[in-house]
Amino acid sequence: MAYVLGRVRMKQKVNILIVDDKKENHLVMESVITDEELNLVKAFSGEEALELCLSHSFAVILMDVQMPSMDGFEAAKLLRSIKKTKHIPIIFITALSKEQHAQFKGYEVGAVDYLFKPFDPIILQSKIKIFKELYLQRRLIEKQAEELAAKVEELNRIQEEKTQLETISMQDCLTKTYNRRGVDRLFNMHWKNCLGYRIPLSVILIDIDHFKKYNDKYGHVSGDEVLKQVSKVLMYSVVRSEDFVGRFGGEEFLIVLPNTPLEGAILIAERINEALLELNIEHNQNEEYGRVTVSMGIATTIPTPYNSPIDIINQTDSLLYEAKYSGRNTYKYVKM
Ligand code: GH3
Ligand code: MG
Ligand code: MG
Repeated sequence: MAYVLGRVRMKQKVNILIVDDKKENHLVMESVITDEELNLVKAFSGEEALELCLSHSFAVILMDVQMPSMDGFEAAKLLRSIKKTKHIPIIFITALSKEQHAQFKGYEVGAVDYLFKPFDPIILQSKIKIFKELYLQRRLIEKQAEELAAKVEELNRIQEEKTQLETISMQDCLTKTYNRRGVDRLFNMHWKNCLGYRIPLSVILIDIDHFKKYNDKYGHVSGDEVLKQVSKVLMYSVVRSEDFVGRFGGEEFLIVLPNTPLEGAILIAERINEALLELNIEHNQNEEYGRVTVSMGIATTIPTPYNSPIDIINQTDSLLYEAKYSGRNTYKYVKM
């Protein structure tokens, strides 16, 4: 602390403001305050003091009480009413009588101290020294707070970038669904969660029917468009925040439905079929239907320590094969 304070001291002098209408009093002050780390700023009226306080920062103000036009008390009162200047400590220096009421007047307007002329130079020096130290400490704390705020901002920025990168790294560029990496990560997380709560989890594996033929007939670019449209259908078909859609392979998608029984998963499969029927994307190589259709395998299980996401995916894969075998544009399901 002392070392850092020392560094601050070397860098910049500490301003103190002396407010007195008489030049000779300024001279006295200059001869008494000899600390080289201090920069003595002079004001010859309350008005001038106010102006200086608004544009500079001071460790303490030594204020004469009796001045023409605005006296020291008035100037102090004004300083206390302005946000920027209200905390600057003021020491009144006065030749007034030592009557109690005069002291009170000073304290009412927020004086922190009071010195009567003729004052003891050593007392003044020691008071100023205290205010100088307080000021330096406050400046250091302010600087540290600023540095801390900047660091927090930087950390937030890095965190945001990291989150964005993470999202991108888990996303399939074409369809904006999760990629395999994302699916693996989320699936494992939800699996553990459902295992912990002993609640069912459903999976739907979806595969576009005769998609190779679609590409052959309509071209790969149109094929990509279909992939995008189908994935939109899938994403709109799930509603809960923990449900998610991933691209599992070329034209194969996976929907994971945590905390969902078989009935719920079947409902979503129906919803997908209805949406595709409505979308009615031409596919005349899908002879029986003449439009883009999908086949699905649906499985539901309550995770246990003895099975894993792979088991349920394998199950949906077999069911998908069954759906294909039984004529496509349909789904097969099982409760494991
Ligand atoms: P099935 O009804 O049995 O699923 O037949 P299918 O032709 O859909 O299945 P298959 O697995 O034989 O072929 C999948 C095709 O999906 C191969 C490829 O032409 C197409 N495909 C895979 N990924 C992409 C892609 O990113 N873009 C496009 N346009 N086509 C893709
Ligand atoms: Mg296919
Ligand atoms: Mg396939």
